[in-house]
Amino acid sequence: AKSSPAQTEFYQATEEVLECLRPLFERAPHYHDHSIIERIVEPERQIMFRVSWVDDAGRVQVNKGYRVQFNSALGPYKGGLRFHPSVTSGTIKFLGFEQIFKNALTGLPIGGGKGGSDFDPKGKSDNEIMRFCQSFMSELYRHIGPHTDVPAGDIGVGAREIGYLFGQYKRLTGRYEGVLTGKGLNWGGSLGRKEATGYGAVYFAENMLAAKDESLQGKTCLVSGAGNVAIYTIEKLYELGAKPVTCSDSKGTIHDPNGIDLGLLKQLKEVQRISLESYLHEHPDAHYISARDYPQDGHAVWRIEGDAAFPCATQNELTEADAKALLANGVTCVSEGANMPSTKEAVDRFLEAKIAYGPGKAANAGGVATSQLEMAQNSSMEQWPLEKVDQKLKQIMADIYRQCADTASEFGEPDNLVLGANIAGFRKVADAMIEQGVI
Ligand code: NDP
Repeated sequence: AKSSPAQTEFYQATEEVLECLRPLFERAPHYHDHSIIERIVEPERQIMFRVSWVDDAGRVQVNKGYRVQFNSALGPYKGGLRFHPSVTSGTIKFLGFEQIFKNALTGLPIGGGKGGSDFDPKGKSDNEIMRFCQSFMSELYRHIGPHTDVPAGDIGVGAREIGYLFGQYKRLTGRYEGVLTGKGLNWGGSLGRKEATGYGAVYFAENMLAAKDESLQGKTCLVSGAGNVAIYTIEKLYELGAKPVTCSDSKGTIHDPNGIDLGLLKQLKEVQRISLESYLHEHPDAHYISARDYPQDGHAVWRIEGDAAFPCATQNELTEADAKALLANGVTCVSEGANMPSTKEAVDRFLEAKIAYGPGKAANAGGVATSQLEMAQNSSMEQWPLEKVDQKLKQIMADIYRQCADTASEFGEPDNLVLGANIAGFRKVADAMIEQGVI
């Protein structure tokens, strides 16, 4: 089965987890007896469906839709929807697998799932996006519900898409309920959800640095991406006295040594939805590196000098050569806002160097944790103030860090948060599966 090219990312994610579990299985062989590995790598359910919709020219377009309901040992399936042309069933499967352990680390009652489509939102009109979302939900609605499966956003799915998806769910079922998270603030959304993944990744970095008697104050930071996670990572870095000097999109990278102009970034990406190249109109002194001019063996953003790095765009965007360049430039902290942004070889370099390295499934768990807070508000018909949500997010990120660090120490590798995150997340899910019997 391993030769199937469509599942490359899934094998990358499973191999990392399974390698880390070896010392746990030596100490707790009963996991073998329950065939936990064989069960945990197999999704409980995978749904694939056709999404047909009519474009503005009146032509029928067809895309593939996916939802992987991976593991419900700890609660209803929870995980985002990704709309991007690169999406395959293997992409969704890798993201769903990671989600199981991430959700377990939050300490909240949520299982793991993920979904999406190979639909490309770029260059589509608002009406086309709406018609696509309506068609997507016309199939998905029968598989989800506030106590079964609660999707959220991811790449290409933000507040606009969640709105259209929610509207169609409501029309089809006649129910106004918390079946999606990341909703608009005046119709069931939570304050602080939009910011949560980025803020959380920065809180995670602060926790890692505090353990070394350091902080982000005064540090020059490299951020990749220019979407939801990148923007709010940059916002929180400024609040904590750091200086983020880069961001990137699929076409290129901006390096602004004076610090990224956050207001302009939001205008370009949240309002106008256009390429970062336009950043230069307001800041002609900044540098733009086109993706065509990136180094053969990696990404321009990681070749710029800085003290800390926050990969916030997509998987495998930071290669071994990039990791070496970061280390050579003196980077001492890497906190992953994106899912699996560093290749396996890059992760090995970070672990060898014993820098503060926070893997995505721990460092970016603030998003899904705050989604669960949105579910809690929906089911109690409350809306909590921003301060309350942010306080809880901060506490959750500190708890996740502590669990990862304590588990890493328990297994004799105190600096290895990859090991800590994988073992701590796995143990919770595996114990629940055993207690619930063979199902
Ligand atoms: P967005 O769609 O808001 O932003 C994605 C950004 O990354 C965009 O700037 C996009 O460029 C860029 N990008 C996407 N794909 C590629 C690619 N293949 N090559 C180069 N650049 C790319 O997504 P999010 O910010 O929500 O998600 C970013 C990452 O964070 C993903 O890995 C996601 O899984 C992860 N994540 C997100 C959470 C959330 O709450 N949203 C929670 C936890 C993890 P362009 O502008 O050109 O499209």
